[in-house]
Amino acid sequence: MSKPLDAIIIGAGHNGLVCAAHLARAGRQVLVLEAASQPGGLGATREFAPGFRASVAHTLPQFGRKLVADLALENHGFRLAASALPTVALCPDGSGHITIADGTLSGACAADTAAYKAYQALLQKFAKAINPFWHKRPPVLGSGGLRDAATLGLFGWNLRTLGKTDLREMMRMIALPARDLMDEYFHSPLLKAALSWDANVGSKLAPRSPNNAVIALLYRMSGDLTGGLPLASGGTGGLMDALAKAACANGAGLRLDSPVAKVVVEQGRAVGVALASGELIRAQKIVSNADPKTSFFQLLGARHLDIQFTHRIRRLRTDGYVAKLHLALDRLPTFTGLAYPGGRLLLAPTMQFIENAYDEAKYGGYARRLPMEVLLPSLQDDRLAPAGQHVLSALVQYAPYTVNGGWDAQRKDFLDNAVASLAQYAPDIRDCIVASELLTPTDLEQQFGLTGGHWHHGEFALDNWWMNRPTYGASQYRTPVSGFYLCGAGSHPGGGIMGAAGSNAAAAILEER
Ligand SMILES: Cc1cc2nc3c(=O)[nH]c(=O)nc-3n(C[C@H](O)[C@H](O)[C@H](O)COP(=O)(O)OP(=O)(O)OC[C@H]3O[C@@H](n4cnc5c(N)ncnc54)[C@H](O)[C@@H]3O)c2cc1C
Repeated sequence: MSKPLDAIIIGAGHNGLVCAAHLARAGRQVLVLEAASQPGGLGATREFAPGFRASVAHTLPQFGRKLVADLALENHGFRLAASALPTVALCPDGSGHITIADGTLSGACAADTAAYKAYQALLQKFAKAINPFWHKRPPVLGSGGLRDAATLGLFGWNLRTLGKTDLREMMRMIALPARDLMDEYFHSPLLKAALSWDANVGSKLAPRSPNNAVIALLYRMSGDLTGGLPLASGGTGGLMDALAKAACANGAGLRLDSPVAKVVVEQGRAVGVALASGELIRAQKIVSNADPKTSFFQLLGARHLDIQFTHRIRRLRTDGYVAKLHLALDRLPTFTGLAYPGGRLLLAPTMQFIENAYDEAKYGGYARRLPMEVLLPSLQDDRLAPAGQHVLSALVQYAPYTVNGGWDAQRKDFLDNAVASLAQYAPDIRDCIVASELLTPTDLEQQFGLTGGHWHHGEFALDNWWMNRPTYGASQYRTPVSGFYLCGAGSHPGGGIMGAAGSNAAAAILEER
């Protein structure tokens, strides 16, 4: 073994890259080891058919200007292909689509348009109060530490400044099912379905699930890159490449095609890693961008942890429920009643339709007609497809990780259902398709090293939130094993292309010396 590094980061997902860039910028000697042949994890842009490219994570609602500035990402090639995509709730017969753009509605009735203004203003007020805490290490209750006391104090103060009426309302709304929240404000079933989408996407939740609809909505509102729904130029991989360049420009090393097999522990301390190739590399600190179950069970080994802690990690809910569909199209399909399909198109006519699809998935099935979020990102970025042709990128809900009969047997049927669901809105879609890629949660697990194929590396829910993320004992990026840290989406604040877990973890590590 050669001279130890300051830190090894396992995984070049965006959080691993952000963590590496911050550590390297502070003068630490850092090496990032990535299993895949390109950086970016779920954000990488890949060719899924000759000439057609897409990324699993396709929009950047949670990414922030501060990270762009801190890491000079524009100097490393980061550009936006679109700053604020409108969201279009598609009406199945094409006659009454509702568009949400720049904080206003079009196509809705006057009462819903007025209600939306009040609803947005209230959510924005709440979001402003809690936004700083996504970017801070969670406090540890009863630690006696000044930093923890200050974070809790600031949290209390921010809530207090909402005023009594709004604070009471926030407390009332916080665990409401999305359905109840939407029913309180709006009339249109189509609008309710569209606005409930961001409360549940990526989770094992549907409009009737009581849990954290409001928190999830506020979390999705955490980005300030444009105030809308941005797309990166080159797909999300354009941002990933800029993050990789920023990390390397600050002095970090990056090795691709280098899966880590084990974390090496000596006398209770993590001191290095063993690659699948057998190579050993030592470092003062080992930081995992992999999900918590992979990090603790596959990489570290449960024998280094106490039994109660391993039980809590084992019980994390990591089954993914979102499939990703990529279609290569030889021309632009025609969506009934929509002149230009250049927004985020939501295919979910009612909350009950979403709920029914969820009910099927809860028991290992899937619906014949599937709710979807659809983009045609080649309209904003013509490098994603050959000239005149297009890419369709869709989040398809709900695709259970454990499907009855197994995904090998169900894949074609699920794909047919997804295309049939699209054809209800774009009748010529089948004639346009030249190739397709369906990534089920099992595919995501196998291709991206992600337990259960879960969007957030583990459910983003009230029991697994803030100082309980992934669980107490590891919620400040440090773990029970000295020298071993987490920096991925399974840590606070959660999933989404945001970089907060990576930068918070770097801050926790830098504070130690
Ligand atoms: C279907 C789907 C669609 C999504 N769409 C969006 C979206 O549109 N917008 C959005 O903001 N978010 C979206 N998300 C969520 C977002 O992609 C993730 O939350 C985010 O990518 C997590 O980033 P990360 O860096 O923590 O981890 P990841 O992106 O999962 O990266 C982890 C990295 O670690 C590597 N790794 C794992 N194990 C090892 C090992 N043993 N050795 C070496 N390397 C290893 C992996 O190869 C990977 O590169 C989506 C998620 C899914 C599943």
